[in-house]
Amino acid sequence: MEKASEMASGGALVLFSGGQDSTVCLAWALARYPRVETIGFDYGQRHAVELAQRTVVIEAVRAAFPPWGRALGPDHLLALPELARISETALTRETEIALTEAGLPSTFVPGRNLLFLTYAAALAYRRGLAMLVAGVCETDYSGYPDCRAATMRAQEEAISLGLDREITIETPLMHLDKAATWALAQSLGGTALVELIREHTHTCYLGDREHRHAWGYGCGHCPACELRARGWYSWRDHESEQSLR
Ligand code: ZN
Repeated sequence: MEKASEMASGGALVLFSGGQDSTVCLAWALARYPRVETIGFDYGQRHAVELAQRTVVIEAVRAAFPPWGRALGPDHLLALPELARISETALTRETEIALTEAGLPSTFVPGRNLLFLTYAAALAYRRGLAMLVAGVCETDYSGYPDCRAATMRAQEEAISLGLDREITIETPLMHLDKAATWALAQSLGGTALVELIREHTHTCYLGDREHRHAWGYGCGHCPACELRARGWYSWRDHESEQSLR
């Protein structure tokens, strides 16, 4: 099997949604790899704002961090309309966000990350990129089984075997809670990156970019906003405790 080190550049492809987590992953990859590209998926999200913010965040990263901007290659957007057609979920339909009978939030699109990673691997193969970077997380993972470390390891193996090329799935946020994710952003890009994430990344399930909170834009009530807000305040509290010592 072809080793990652033997590939053209050892670059990374970041699964990038324009949200807080994948933006931290993008910064993490830019701090490590000489060549980084991004991939996003249009699968009939309820709100176009999610896709619109991807470009805004990428341009903001280029402007605020010129060395990262030089490492940052093309952004790829793939349309997967069939995913919306086979999934009746609260992310793609105007249904209430609640727990389903299976105990999963109605925001769960079955197998979504598995599909995304498979498409990303196919693109990475063509682009000569050996690493896939995904912002999946077990800690705050809302019960999504396709975000678990065991799922990622199994898929990494399946992809590497299926492509006959060693592809690594990097998951820098896997064991971090949302407060630790803000701390990671601070350590990677300082206050400039934290501000960029607050201002431009989008997390809210309802697509709200009217209401500005300390932690960014959002409705403030949906599970994604609650998680983001809780993480922000927990990180700020921790920071102010540290500074008083
Ligand atoms: Zn919200």
